[in-house]
Amino acid sequence: MKIKPIRGTHDLFGDEIKKFNKVVFEVKANARKFGFNELITPIFESSELFKKPLGEHSDVVLKEMYTFRDRNEDEITLRPEYTTPMIRAAISNGLLNNLPAKFFGTGQMFRRERPQKGRYRQFNQINFENFGSDDFFADIEIINVANTILNKILPNKKITLHLNTLGSRENLKNYKNILSKFFNDNKNFLSSESIDKINSNPLRILDSKNIEDKNIIEKSPKLIELISKSDLKLYEEIKNSLIDLNISIYEDLNLVRGLDYYCHTVFEFKTDEIGSQDTLIGGGRYNGLIKTIGGKDIPGVGWAGGIERIMLLMKNIKPEEKDIHLAIQEPTLKKHALKIYDILIKNNFNVYWNYKYNLKKSLSIASEKNAEYIVIIGEKENMNNNFSVKNLSTGEQKILDLNNIIDYLK
Ligand code: AMP
Repeated sequence: MKIKPIRGTHDLFGDEIKKFNKVVFEVKANARKFGFNELITPIFESSELFKKPLGEHSDVVLKEMYTFRDRNEDEITLRPEYTTPMIRAAISNGLLNNLPAKFFGTGQMFRRERPQKGRYRQFNQINFENFGSDDFFADIEIINVANTILNKILPNKKITLHLNTLGSRENLKNYKNILSKFFNDNKNFLSSESIDKINSNPLRILDSKNIEDKNIIEKSPKLIELISKSDLKLYEEIKNSLIDLNISIYEDLNLVRGLDYYCHTVFEFKTDEIGSQDTLIGGGRYNGLIKTIGGKDIPGVGWAGGIERIMLLMKNIKPEEKDIHLAIQEPTLKKHALKIYDILIKNNFNVYWNYKYNLKKSLSIASEKNAEYIVIIGEKENMNNNFSVKNLSTGEQKILDLNNIIDYLK
């Protein structure tokens, strides 16, 4: 029986797992610097946690969630995103007493999308969330954390910060009505995919990639014209502070994000080097969301980044320090071999033991695996209580005992 992996999933090994671990390492190191604490939540939650907060008409809820009934008939969903589970966890565990409360996490998400480069059905996200602050400094900080992590992992890549403001929730509601009316009046010029969204989710039409739609989108009413003076002033302050931090901005009036919960600041970090799935990180403010999930009426701001998408831009990571292989020539020599095995591990060397009892085979495995040294344990070495050590790059071979072998290898 040959079982295939499920479509849209992938295994991580070799160079890929090294890149993956590098991303997670930098995320954790920078989270510490910016004062964010790790919060890991379960992979599945009650479906209701996602339906209303993400929007009954959002693509994720309508088409992409992995939802099933378990043996008790409870409806369960594999998490499609991390913000709502983080909020649920912060509420369940009483973590919202000292505000602002800053959390981050990494883990698998699940969406039944059409797989392609940079888009999978199980993928890994990084999430940073700041709960409980309306201060515009929280927006700047969260964007700065994203920018710092991307710069650290991808120092020479051109990544652009797209920024927009949606204004207040009320404002956004008005705008949706105006947009629905406009697109209804211009229905004949829209793609059928966009026509389906006119009443349920007109904002999504704005980031349609369909050429047919682009013309009419250009002529559509602009959200910025509806935003209040005080909200615009706030947006100006955010932009100016980002400039002070040397973070360049591309103002993107059509940036609205896919989920229902956003308001005010929204942003995406994009690249043009990985094809159509070009958003590495996306986020924004979600005032009102924490209350919707049953918490206090406190604001929040955060982002999610795709680890696999970031990995698409990374170079291979240099090999770590090399291994020392053991070539034990007879099973009867194990006792002598254990002495060197134990002392190498205790001195932090990477040791590889192949159980082949054949010098020729051991040497060929060591060179195939690019080992640094091979320690040969034969009858002669056992009798003299020493070891032969061969440097595989120079070919030099020495006889050493337990007292001097570690110094030599170091
Ligand atoms: P979203 O919650 O859709 O804004 O996603 C946040 C980030 O997660 C995106 O910018 C991507 O980097 C990543 N992402 C979202 N969906 C997928 C997917 N299906 N496969 C891989 N990465 C994804």
